[in-house]
Amino acid sequence: MRYIKGIAEDEGKIVTLKGWVSNKRDSKGIAFIILRDGSGFIQCVVSEDVIGAEKFEPIKRLTQESAIAITGNVVKDEKQIGGFEIQGTNVEIISVAEEYPISNKEHGPDFLMDHRHLWLRSRRQWAIMRVRNRIIFAIHNFFQSKGFVQMDAPIFTCNASEGTSDLFATDFYGEPAYLSQSGQLYGEAMAMAQGLIYTFGPTFRAEKSKTRRHLSEFWMIEPEMAFYDLDMDMDIIEEFIQYVVADVLVHCKVEMETLERDTSMLEKVKEKFPRITHHEAVKILRGEKDVNGKNALKMLEQDLIDVNEKADNNRKEITERETKISSGNLKKGEINFNQSAIDKLKNANKDLDMLLENIPGWYESAKSFSFDSDFGGSDETILTRLFGTPIMVYNWPGEIKAFYMKADNENPSLARGVDVLAPEGYGEIVGGGERETDINRLLSKINEHKLPMSAFEWYLDLRRFGAVPHSGFGLGLERIVSWVCKLDHIRETIPFARSYGRLTP
Ligand code: ATP
Ligand code: MG
Repeated sequence: MRYIKGIAEDEGKIVTLKGWVSNKRDSKGIAFIILRDGSGFIQCVVSEDVIGAEKFEPIKRLTQESAIAITGNVVKDEKQIGGFEIQGTNVEIISVAEEYPISNKEHGPDFLMDHRHLWLRSRRQWAIMRVRNRIIFAIHNFFQSKGFVQMDAPIFTCNASEGTSDLFATDFYGEPAYLSQSGQLYGEAMAMAQGLIYTFGPTFRAEKSKTRRHLSEFWMIEPEMAFYDLDMDMDIIEEFIQYVVADVLVHCKVEMETLERDTSMLEKVKEKFPRITHHEAVKILRGEKDVNGKNALKMLEQDLIDVNEKADNNRKEITERETKISSGNLKKGEINFNQSAIDKLKNANKDLDMLLENIPGWYESAKSFSFDSDFGGSDETILTRLFGTPIMVYNWPGEIKAFYMKADNENPSLARGVDVLAPEGYGEIVGGGERETDINRLLSKINEHKLPMSAFEWYLDLRRFGAVPHSGFGLGLERIVSWVCKLDHIRETIPFARSYGRLTP
């Protein structure tokens, strides 16, 4: 079998490619087919002169997503996608598709998600899944090359690591069990056995939130390292993210182009990530401290002006195009073109209107943000837009962090945790920190959080038998894919998203 990826090696040769018609136009005895075979997309030109009228006739009737085997000469052509073209000498039809529900025209997100099983074939989705695949590969490469051992934590658990509020309950032989929201506590046990470990598995959160960052089922990578303190933790997180992003930049050039991702922002990830305390971050958010001459609140004020202007311009363009259509002077193709542009503008304005509605609330929340609170999605967006690289926020108020986080020696009200917030408004991609080793502190924290002590006896054993300083972190796979691909919504980062209100297909 030959595939589109790697077709450069076949230049000047006759090959047969098997795939699907992702697009086709024909005129005057020549058909231009964009073929996709899973590995890529390529233009194929088939002419009646070459293959004869009898073979050409059925090609004219080929619908989008019909499957074919096409034989032809591989010719270099810089203008075409992928830089090559197939000049067809024969076409075998494998199956003719019914009318395909997804076309080039604008579809709303709900329609596309309802057709996710088909939507996955479109070029953007294809590119996103390839980036996801490469990121997974890079993650394993990074940890394996550093001597980490992959170990998997259980998915059925009898208790929550941080309370049961956001858990999916299931029935485990008549006993309540919960789907895991983190493998971390088990990761700590495994790190005491192997030194350096990472888990990579599905994670479940029953938050009833409809945001562009939350899924109910997502994949998390959770490394845990014996003898690492918070500073070492931050060092390896930085190195890890830099490695993964650099790897994507080298190996996913076609995908980044397909997604029209401006990679200059990703190039900056090479630079050191600013490390700022939670206290400093709050000051920045409240507009009390500028970053590189930029002020969080002033940027929001400017946003309001910009968004208003953009929405106005869109409305004007919609009216113009509607007038054109109703003039009755347009051809069918022109009407379709204008209608599709109108639908697109209307969709864009839905998002802009939502922003206009939300920005004043975000502004208020940022301005009066309290020094002992956790950041919400909007706060993270406001904060990270000020920076070109990811930032690491550390030393959090202990009150808002999990019971297992180590208290700072100098100021025990602070927890030695770190969150990594991605730039361009993406927000939290990593949460981690140093773990508490003092068994008495842990006991009182477990009581304070009203967690069932019996469920944590095994965990406390890790402090009784050879306790050592140790740290770890959790990276949400879909969060990093979303940022690297610069997607508007996390639902496109996973083949079949599960989120509040979405269980099919
Ligand atoms: P957030 O505050 O953004 O809801 P969190 O602090 O609850 O996240 P953690 O418990 O720290 O998340 O989980 C570690 C990582 O897992 C996060 O940094 C993020 O990358 C990812 N993550 C957490 N919740 C989700 C979710 N619902 N969907 C996708 N990824 C998630
Ligand atoms: Mg977190």
